[in-house]
Amino acid sequence: MNEQNILIVRCGEVALKGMNKPYFERMLVDRIRAALRRFHGVDVQRHEGLIFIRADKSQDIEQIIRATSRVFGVASISKAVEAPSELDAAGEAAVAYMLELIEKRGVKTFKVEAKRADKNCPVKSPEIGRIIGAKILIGCKVLKVDVHEPDVRLHVDVRHDRTYIYESKIAGFGGLPLGTNGKGLVLLSGGIDSPVAAFMMAKRGMLIEAVHFHSYPYTSPRAQEKVEELARILASYCGSFRMHAINLLPVQEQIVQNCPEEETTILVRRFMMRIAARIAAENGCMMLITGENLGQVASQTAEALVVTDASVSLPVMRPLIAMDKIDIMDKAQEIGTYETSIQPYEDCCTVFLPKHPTTKPRLERILRSESRLDCEALIEAAVSAEEIIEIKAGDA
Ligand code: ATP
Ligand code: MG
Repeated sequence: MNEQNILIVRCGEVALKGMNKPYFERMLVDRIRAALRRFHGVDVQRHEGLIFIRADKSQDIEQIIRATSRVFGVASISKAVEAPSELDAAGEAAVAYMLELIEKRGVKTFKVEAKRADKNCPVKSPEIGRIIGAKILIGCKVLKVDVHEPDVRLHVDVRHDRTYIYESKIAGFGGLPLGTNGKGLVLLSGGIDSPVAAFMMAKRGMLIEAVHFHSYPYTSPRAQEKVEELARILASYCGSFRMHAINLLPVQEQIVQNCPEEETTILVRRFMMRIAARIAAENGCMMLITGENLGQVASQTAEALVVTDASVSLPVMRPLIAMDKIDIMDKAQEIGTYETSIQPYEDCCTVFLPKHPTTKPRLERILRSESRLDCEALIEAAVSAEEIIEIKAGDA
């Protein structure tokens, strides 16, 4: 029947954008095209408030659905069959569709859910449902109607020139198309939280670049490979991006030698922020993004966050700030980073960990401790020794 597979993509929030809707829709179509570039014979077009993907039957449609569902801005996807908007033809297509489901899944009951986007169509939705339902009962003798718990809810969406028939909606992540909200620099550790934080900001349309701090040779190359692996999983949503790897050891050594032990953690965090701010400025990133979460550890008490925040002037986004750990872990599972995050490798923060880190640091005291260090030279040296790693989408 159809030479091509057809997917209907619904745009969710993009559809609410009023005057800016055409811009967001164009961005979304561009992102879907980019995500599907590796498949041949795929066409993506906007039409009547929906996005249609047509793919040659030789292409793996399940893979195409998976790739599309990862594009931010996509609310849901349906695999559909297309027929002319004329009830006999639509009925025939519906019968063929149901015969295939009977053969594949042994379907026994169904219900037709008809919808009429074309209000010029003289037949009203319930009537369309009854007509198509009757045709299915004649064409598929084994089927019965069940309006309460049918095996299949068959959607018949009558539009101006075409009618689309589909069974279910596959959920996307929603959000807004990448590139509609600037670029942010995520401080990416190997933990559970920061990949989730990056995902959440990217889902709102923000392009991502990353910085990772290590303490080589105290931390191993394998620990950094784990972070690169996490970055590749992120890239399957956010597209390719760059990761700046910074050796923090010289900074940590200076802090340990010159400052009170209990302040080590908070001082290290302020240096991370300032180095990140420098990298952000040099790479067009408007904000920093961290996986910080109120009260999670000593460095994330309210007082510690205030002191950390005071180290930089650009905005720091903390999308996980008020979430419970269990919910962050669920999110990590959902986006596929959890298994990698829980691999046990040392992090630079665990090197020189103080026995009793201060949980209520005071800014004046921290500034006094920092005055014993040549902060500017340390930051400069760390940034100029950076290693840049290209994280490629599609390598995960
Ligand atoms: P995660 O928050 O990713 O699970 P974590 O909880 O061990 O790791 P914390 O020590 O609580 O991390 O640090 C809070 C935030 O600081 C992290 O979410 C991350 O954004 C940033 N951060 C910590 N360590 C690093 C690092 N080695 N490189 C880059 N950013 C880091
Ligand atoms: Mg954390």
